[in-house]
Amino acid sequence: MLDIDTIRNDFPILREKVYGKPLVYLDNAATTHKPQSVLDRVINHYSRQNSNCHRGAHFLSEQASAAYESARESVRSFINAQSPAEIIFTRGTTESINLVAESFGRKFVRADDEIIITQMEHHSNIVPWQRLCESRGARLKVLPMNKKGMLKLDRLSKLITENTKLLCVSYVSNTLGIVNPIREIIDLAHRYDVAVLVDAAQAVQHIPLDVQEMDCDFLAFSGHKMYAETGIGVLYGKQRWLEAMPPYQSGGGMIGNVGLRESTYAELPLKFEAGTANAAGAISLQAAIDYLQEIGLDAIVNYENELINRAVESIASLEGVIVYGDFPQRCGVVSFNLENAHPYDVGMILDKLAIAVRSGNHCAQPLMEHLGISGTVRISLALYNTPQEIDKLIAGVEKCRDMIGSRYVTTK
Ligand code: PLP
Repeated sequence: MLDIDTIRNDFPILREKVYGKPLVYLDNAATTHKPQSVLDRVINHYSRQNSNCHRGAHFLSEQASAAYESARESVRSFINAQSPAEIIFTRGTTESINLVAESFGRKFVRADDEIIITQMEHHSNIVPWQRLCESRGARLKVLPMNKKGMLKLDRLSKLITENTKLLCVSYVSNTLGIVNPIREIIDLAHRYDVAVLVDAAQAVQHIPLDVQEMDCDFLAFSGHKMYAETGIGVLYGKQRWLEAMPPYQSGGGMIGNVGLRESTYAELPLKFEAGTANAAGAISLQAAIDYLQEIGLDAIVNYENELINRAVESIASLEGVIVYGDFPQRCGVVSFNLENAHPYDVGMILDKLAIAVRSGNHCAQPLMEHLGISGTVRISLALYNTPQEIDKLIAGVEKCRDMIGSRYVTTK
């Protein structure tokens, strides 16, 4: 059992009022709020040990470097990577995916090779692959979804050919909340010698991850979606891939020796971390991991599962509401529309009730096209949300329906 009152108390922003009302924050897939312990660790870093890491031999620089590397070790242990060399700090999921597209792409993708993505990806896991394929003369293939919002996995082995180099797939869809059967997908791809990149941006905060057990080749996530600061993220990569890949960006910190005509590069993981490191961000990520582990990941998973089931059942039971996706395992997210009401109108009315949701295409335009709509209202949960907040949402959606949708409602 989670002590939700205590947990909510850990997040100062949850005490803020919006239009004079208590905030109901249901936009956690966009970004989560930060507990006091994360904020304190960042302040402590800047107040007591701020210095450029891996640059100086003086006391503060050594402290900052040690703190940064200790954060890397926390991430390693959190996702059970084999070695800290496999943990690259980036700005977030987007940069992690761009790093692989640029570096793996430069080394391993040639004309007529193929990259496979899926129809449900976030734009961050689509556009870098389009650009790579364009620059290399490679082909982008798409694993489609069915009407229920599930990937058509029976098509995957037919899509793969001997030219397929990489499959890029999200663990959890940011729009539908479906949990893809990631082990099954990775096993299948590996049977054909295809490497797999997992976009875990919407999984890492809800599902315990074990990259060795998953056997993924790459995994990307963002700190700000798991209670840490913005501007910090992670790329996990199997060491043998990262060793073989060329640097992504170049400059200070990623070098061995620099001459005027040529240079050598640092060992992993620094080879991929050009420029001044975001030490405060990494430390905030470590603090967020500590926070989640102190509460207990199993307890969080159980609580969030109950909450999401309650949310989806209550929303689906409302007349005149369409819930998108029909699948066995859902995580964190519910997308819906009020019949004949624009999602932006629903979002705006909910906002006036101090309920923060997201309206729009959620950076997943191909998925919207598949659904035949331009957008949805999306709620996304975090460990500090409560059943009472779901009740407020339901009352809010009913109010929206009364205001803008009622004359169109068809009885189910
Ligand atoms: N992938 C998924 C599934 C996401 O939900 C998001 C953000 O919403 C991203 C990638 C991009 O994350 P970021 O903007 O933190 O880089």
